[in-house]
Amino acid sequence: MKKRYALAFAISVISAALIFGVAPRYVEKQMNVHLPHDPFMVSDQAQALHETLIVGDLHADSFLWDRDLSKRDTIGSVDFPRLKEGNFALQVFSAVTKSPRGQNYEENDGDSDNITSLMVTQLRPLDTWTSLFARGRLHAQLVNDYAANHPEDMVVLKSKSDLETLMARRAAGETVVGGLIAMEGAHPLEGGAENVKVFAEMGYRMIGLTHFFDNELGGSLHGKSQMGLTDFGKTAIRRMIQNNIIIDLAHASEQAVLDTLTISDGPFVVSHTGLNGACESPRNISDDTMQKIVDKGGLIGIGFWEGAICDTSLDGIAKQIRYGIDRFGLESIALGSDWDGAVAVELTSNETPALTHHLLSNGFSETEIRAVMGGNLYRFLAAHLPR
Ligand SMILES: [Zn+2]
Repeated sequence: MKKRYALAFAISVISAALIFGVAPRYVEKQMNVHLPHDPFMVSDQAQALHETLIVGDLHADSFLWDRDLSKRDTIGSVDFPRLKEGNFALQVFSAVTKSPRGQNYEENDGDSDNITSLMVTQLRPLDTWTSLFARGRLHAQLVNDYAANHPEDMVVLKSKSDLETLMARRAAGETVVGGLIAMEGAHPLEGGAENVKVFAEMGYRMIGLTHFFDNELGGSLHGKSQMGLTDFGKTAIRRMIQNNIIIDLAHASEQAVLDTLTISDGPFVVSHTGLNGACESPRNISDDTMQKIVDKGGLIGIGFWEGAICDTSLDGIAKQIRYGIDRFGLESIALGSDWDGAVAVELTSNETPALTHHLLSNGFSETEIRAVMGGNLYRFLAAHLPR
């Protein structure tokens, strides 16, 4: 009898270890895929140029996966050793709090959710198993705690002075990265406009209106209704502006984007996207709508995955950047990788010098490379972070 209990106990320990220990890594490896590619080239000239750039990226979901980001890993695209190898100064870290089963670019409802099982298998705090608000709070806590525990790796960018501190430390030779706390889809507000201020106090400085499904604020580009903003959405946007939060229009329906532009002057980003004129995709809003965002000073982050840019190679990324500069102007184009956002990519954060090499050897000027690789993002944050 005793033996049987011991065996049952051993089996439950082993299955718990599998579910709570191995499963999250296994899941991430399936979701954040590295695509095979020919070896990347980086000339001495490109490497030397890359080391003088402010490198920045508008969108990564790395804090979703419960990896130790202080250690170099082989799965995913981002951790701090790899960001440093890529000479990153700025990285936006976004919170994914709900994602429907069978997620696609055409039509989703909000009835199902894959993030719940991720919260459970990662043994996250109990309130995150049921509350989207709690998931939003957890993300800010993870980013803030990481910076507190690894001050040599990250400073959280909440104000202009944080940005100045970051740049002064980097100028003195430190490899510290500025992390900005963002939210992908504002459903963690749970319909409460007063929660905008609560999240701003936690450190959020960028909030996307919707993700893959229509929510309390309005229509998703991949939702059922394609509706514009709700009254709550309009109220929430006004509160975001009052609380110094940058509005992210990625994933919003065209009508929700147009409504937002009618009631607000921003600041706006489309943190991770492709350009429809260069890659026609249901993931990308029309060039005409994108132009209206740019007309209000918006910044566009070019993604690295197929659904956005049609071609994941360095050449595919470069073609989007070239189209973006020619169509929308140099000052409006930045990088928006969507690293660790359940997409398949060829380029990972440590390999970013290869993108500089590719741009340099394909006729991009040094001015263009400086702006797109992160200079534009730096200027945008310097203009829009609060005092
Ligand atoms: Zn996304």
